Amino acid sequence: MPQPSDPSSPLPPTIIKGLPVSPGIVIGKVLVVDDDLRRVTRRSIRPEQEAAERARFDAAVRDSIAELREVHQQAEGQMGKEAAKIFLFHVGMLSDPSLLGPIHAMIEKEHVTADYAACHVLANLADQFRANKNSVFATKVNDIEDLGDRLMKHLVGPGASRIAQADENTIILARDLTPSQTASFDRTKVLGFATDLGGMTSHTAIIAKALDIPAVVGCRTLLKAARDGMPVILDGDKGAVILNPDPATEEEYRGYTRQRALFRVSLTELCDLPGVTTDGHAVHILGNIELADEVKKVLQHGGEGVGLYRTEYLYLTAQREPTEADHYAAYTRCVELCAGRELVIRTVDLGADKYTQAQAEVPERNPFLGNRSIRYCLQHTGMFRTQLRAILRASAKGPIKVMFPLVSTIPELRQAKFHVREVMEDLAEEGAAFDKDIKLGMMVEVPSAAIQAEAFAREVDFFSIGTNDLVQYTLAVDRINERVAHLYTPTHPAVLRLIRDVSRTARRHHVPISCCGESAADLEYAMLLLGLGLRILSVSSSSIPQLKRFIRSVSMQQCERVARQALALDSGDQVSRLLRDRARTFVPDAFDGRSAE
Ligand code: PEP
Ligand code: MG
Repeated sequence: MPQPSDPSSPLPPTIIKGLPVSPGIVIGKVLVVDDDLRRVTRRSIRPEQEAAERARFDAAVRDSIAELREVHQQAEGQMGKEAAKIFLFHVGMLSDPSLLGPIHAMIEKEHVTADYAACHVLANLADQFRANKNSVFATKVNDIEDLGDRLMKHLVGPGASRIAQADENTIILARDLTPSQTASFDRTKVLGFATDLGGMTSHTAIIAKALDIPAVVGCRTLLKAARDGMPVILDGDKGAVILNPDPATEEEYRGYTRQRALFRVSLTELCDLPGVTTDGHAVHILGNIELADEVKKVLQHGGEGVGLYRTEYLYLTAQREPTEADHYAAYTRCVELCAGRELVIRTVDLGADKYTQAQAEVPERNPFLGNRSIRYCLQHTGMFRTQLRAILRASAKGPIKVMFPLVSTIPELRQAKFHVREVMEDLAEEGAAFDKDIKLGMMVEVPSAAIQAEAFAREVDFFSIGTNDLVQYTLAVDRINERVAHLYTPTHPAVLRLIRDVSRTARRHHVPISCCGESAADLEYAMLLLGLGLRILSVSSSSIPQLKRFIRSVSMQQCERVARQALALDSGDQVSRLLRDRARTFVPDAFDGRSAE
């Protein structure tokens, strides 16, 4: 049955801890966004709306069947005839009067929406299968849930209708959110969000930071406790969600928000000052962006340019594949806004949790180890070359560097460079202008690339270390899985050694090297990166002022000493303790009052 959602029930305050992924404190009321079929709210319709509601349901069934047939065809190629049959089974279910009949009947007799009727009937069917001791029936529960998701997608869009219901001062609490759902929030209404699933460096977390939406992920029990309309405090600094806060707690948090605002004002004074340590070493602070217009924020916050443009967000925020014109418009906009400053455009990093419109349909078993990123581009060379053409054409307007993500082998890098050369030849034939000496670099985010840095250094113009992926692949810890979040340790000695070695190799080969993973924005970790030889850090725009202030307060000598001490330790915990202790000794006031608690 649908859950009751009575906002006035006198429930006690509940504190739920999670992972703080995007800073900020917001106070508002809950909107639950859940993909659980049982939570679709029962809504009534007027009798005269019945025919239209049935027609809406029938259209969703037709669209789902058409989509399933396409998926079936695609899956046959990828998974073989036998495995792909499952999609035909789904088509069969959606054509079965014993499933459709009760849904129609419920709309007619009970005057409820098609969404509610469909979810109610499917949820009951899933319960019957679940109760059956025969394991064959038990496995059918997944099929019904899958079918329910697909049907709901065609009825209301994936989670979209709930998100669209947000009023002012809404804090969304969800089981999970995709990067594109997060990007679709109406910022005049949605103050922040928290999810039960997800890890520190998930792409949903990254988009939250890009859009300055306070966020907490990996909370695990939110949906058990939360109800629509409940008062809630979301603390994106500490990683906490407080449901039904008492008046004293609410007042305490209002105090924190005032304190935060003052701290931010003091940071803005730093914007025009250079990033330089107390002993005179220049450190270049660049910004990570997901959307072209974010360049403005990077510059306003005192960034020297863009160290990572995650262009896949062009795909995640659109319903169709971007055209060359779409790419070109985005890149020329960036070039224009950067006005001669550094601009590193990363070729699309789709796959894993950032799936394409087409890929979403046949999920991979291990998507982070699958057809992701440069691998995907090298298998979809039409799409890849469309992007390269646009980047190269935009390079005629101002400086651009191209960066390839997730490179794990030398042949892969060579193939990527081959496509750049071919596209250059095409453009030259067409008489189109482009930068013939455009710099080509790569992310170092797979252990194989880090270990083989020497060979890669001979073939690229620059490196950028991506700690988000480097940590997950080195430690075999899924970056978006909250169940292993405690094992996701950027301070792990194995990660430190890889960074040290890549940094040394880069220096020897005079290959510029930066770090653009989330860890670069962590003040303690940044100290370590400087000590390991890095002089370029690229972070989300909101992290720039605090990072600059920190860098201007430490000496390179201190950083190098800490790095040497860290490299002598055996565990990530020991390294974390060392960094915490040293950072707070060197620069006690670099952390706002609360972070130091
Ligand atoms: C990284 O892996 O550190 C990185 C910057 O890339 P992304 O987070 O987009 O995978
Ligand atoms: Mg990465």
